Amino acid sequence: MLNADLHCHSYVSDGTLAPAELAARAKANGVDLWALTDHDEVGGLAEAREAADALGLPFVAGVEISVTWAGKTVHIVGLNIDEHDRTLREGLASVRGGRAMRGREIAGQLGQAGIAGAFEGALRHADNPEMLGRTHFARFLVEAGVRPSVTEVFRDFLVEGKPGFVPHRWATLEQAVGWIRSAGGVAVIAHPGRYPFTDLQRDALIDSFRKLGGTGIEVVTGSYTPDQYGEYARVAQQMGLLASRGSDFHGPAESRVDLGTLPPLPAGLTAVWHHW
Ligand code: AMP
Ligand code: MN
Ligand code: MN
Ligand code: MN
Repeated sequence: MLNADLHCHSYVSDGTLAPAELAARAKANGVDLWALTDHDEVGGLAEAREAADALGLPFVAGVEISVTWAGKTVHIVGLNIDEHDRTLREGLASVRGGRAMRGREIAGQLGQAGIAGAFEGALRHADNPEMLGRTHFARFLVEAGVRPSVTEVFRDFLVEGKPGFVPHRWATLEQAVGWIRSAGGVAVIAHPGRYPFTDLQRDALIDSFRKLGGTGIEVVTGSYTPDQYGEYARVAQQMGLLASRGSDFHGPAESRVDLGTLPPLPAGLTAVWHHW
């Protein structure tokens, strides 16, 4: 079975490594099909492809798009995209456009909670200022000694009901799937087990996604417990979706699951890469 890892982040979004460093790490870990999927941004793909080519590592161009659906944030991964597609690029630029203002509001809330200088502090952790996000704020809060780790920051800050949470309107599901399809890619629902939906809402999401032309779902991801693999294998089968696998690796210091180290896809599924 192919060791495919089709979900990870470089410092072009909220990872800590360069695209070329990720390529080397994927190769060293035995990955044999690799995608870089930075949040709302394709700027790291050229470096990633060049590094992967030099290593003889088969590469897939990807992106992870932030979407608002039923008032919650959902992530849609695009795989095998043409990153030069204008519709995709303009769409992603529009999604990134709201991040600076949101960052100001996050910093304002943290200021009221007694934590000064968060905007500038988070920005220092963001190699790509257009992609300022909660992870960069979390790293700043660790650096400032507010909490010992990013995981612990996300328990007490930056999430719904806690200081530093700013409701935000991302792309619509229709836009995200449309941009990915415009770029010739396959749309995949990222880590479906992580959303605060009931089973009914989740099925409604998948239904809308499929009607829009989405065809894939992550079955094995770094953000699951092992019993969720079976659950989403069943969902993929019942809904007739292609199965994907990806670590969602963000960096050696922060990610529990390293590139290429996940269990294989459960049997009986059609892998998203089967016709590539
Ligand atoms: P943003 O797109 O700015 O809202 O940031 C979302 C990112 O925050 C995700 O892609 C994760 O990298 C990170 N994140 C969200 N929740 C958590 C969590 N509980 N623990 C660690 N990282 C998280
Ligand atoms: Mn992230
Ligand atoms: Mn995600
Ligand atoms: Mn991700």
